[in-house]
Amino acid sequence: MYKIAYKKIAHPIFTTPIILTAFISLNVLLAPLSSQASPSKNLTDHLSATNVILFIGDGMDEHQITMARNYLYSPKGLFAMEQMPVRSSVKVQTLREDNPKQFRHIADSANSATTLATGVLTSKGRIATAALTNHALPTILEDAQRAGYRTGIVTTASLTDATPAAFASHSPHRDCESPEEMKARHPFIPPTQQCTHNQKKRGGQGSIVEQLINANVDVLLGGGRKYFKQSVGKSSFIEQAQHKGYALLQTQTDIQGTPEHSKLLGLFSKKHLPIEWIGENYRRAKKIKTDADGHHIYPQPFTCTPNTRFKNTPTLSQMTDKALQTLSHNNTKGFFLVVEGALIDKQAHKRNPCGQIGELRAFDESISTGREFASKFPNTLVIVTADHGQAGQIVPLPESYELVSNAVTAPQYPTGYYAVLKTLSGELMAISYATNSSPKGMWEMHTGTNVPAFMEGPELKNVPVTIDQRYINNLMRQHLKLGTIQ
Ligand SMILES: [Zn+2]
Repeated sequence: MYKIAYKKIAHPIFTTPIILTAFISLNVLLAPLSSQASPSKNLTDHLSATNVILFIGDGMDEHQITMARNYLYSPKGLFAMEQMPVRSSVKVQTLREDNPKQFRHIADSANSATTLATGVLTSKGRIATAALTNHALPTILEDAQRAGYRTGIVTTASLTDATPAAFASHSPHRDCESPEEMKARHPFIPPTQQCTHNQKKRGGQGSIVEQLINANVDVLLGGGRKYFKQSVGKSSFIEQAQHKGYALLQTQTDIQGTPEHSKLLGLFSKKHLPIEWIGENYRRAKKIKTDADGHHIYPQPFTCTPNTRFKNTPTLSQMTDKALQTLSHNNTKGFFLVVEGALIDKQAHKRNPCGQIGELRAFDESISTGREFASKFPNTLVIVTADHGQAGQIVPLPESYELVSNAVTAPQYPTGYYAVLKTLSGELMAISYATNSSPKGMWEMHTGTNVPAFMEGPELKNVPVTIDQRYINNLMRQHLKLGTIQ
């Protein structure tokens, strides 16, 4: 099996982007040559298998990428995803549930993942179902499965969370995660999207966790143990999965010890996985305070540090590696795999820049793993994209605000929540979150910008510079010869 040499380094303070760049470039250049040299017919069939790996960085717009790149590598560096040969800007489109002929201009992970999964636009909160009508929309994972491909879902969130759910279940709303959530009416969900519409006793498909257990996906790795522990009838969903032949993985050690021929259900946390990094002394962005004389008191700079709670949790890269080994094992047809870096978004909601940066770095490491696999299996299409924008912005340092304040009569200072990070190369970078006043609860909101797509693989010559998410779905369908969605 393939090895990822540089990823054993635990903290990027010990590495440099130059080493990363050189390693990836050399590897990508050399690996296909050594693969083509294989004399074995079986191995040649195996290498020509048709594969798609879709990476989704939740909330990973250009601003979030730039923030993490500046912190880790300074503006001179590049992430692995940024070294992929094809790049496009992606429009994210969201319909109104109350009038699906009109657009909203902010997406959520559910409707955005639905479009990536099905090639069809829908409304906020929906999981592979059509706006207003609630019709189930076939997903690329389901179509790939019907065509004989193996399939996999890997995420740092609960497996029942919106992005993974949209590839292998159908629900009027993302919150219908388990039988418990199906019972009551939800005050914040529109009447046409209530979970009760999907109850089995009303002819619906049931909760997301029930559908995931029955979807026959070969590899399911992520969090969400609390949902899989629930049951309808005598046995829990975990036990039902084991009856269907899934090996249950719960620790990093389980990942290393499970043979490649197994179907895998990895549940590595109660809900979402712990984050890899936190701010030193748990620091996040905060409001600027004003002293009795009217002077603004700026927060002191801080750095990011590993989160001790992450210990013994598999990294996203390790989960991706395991999924790739399992899906490609004795497989001449190929596979469809979706990998989500889920917590970039969830940490941006919490105004935690170090949480975001650590998760973006972990996501990029998993992309390196995917690219290295693709360099050995050349008929692999790798697409990296995001589902919507997030709230973090790089803004001026305190000295810039103070300079302007001295020159004008009214003092100026950053509104919203503000943090100053000391980057690994010793520079200062200020981050602002200013989409919501709430100190907690809803916290920051999504933003409505385009998101990037980075691509690598065969037949990518004519990708336009601006695309939409339906285009990505069709590109993947074309590669797997599944027919396209109009
Ligand atoms: Zn979000």
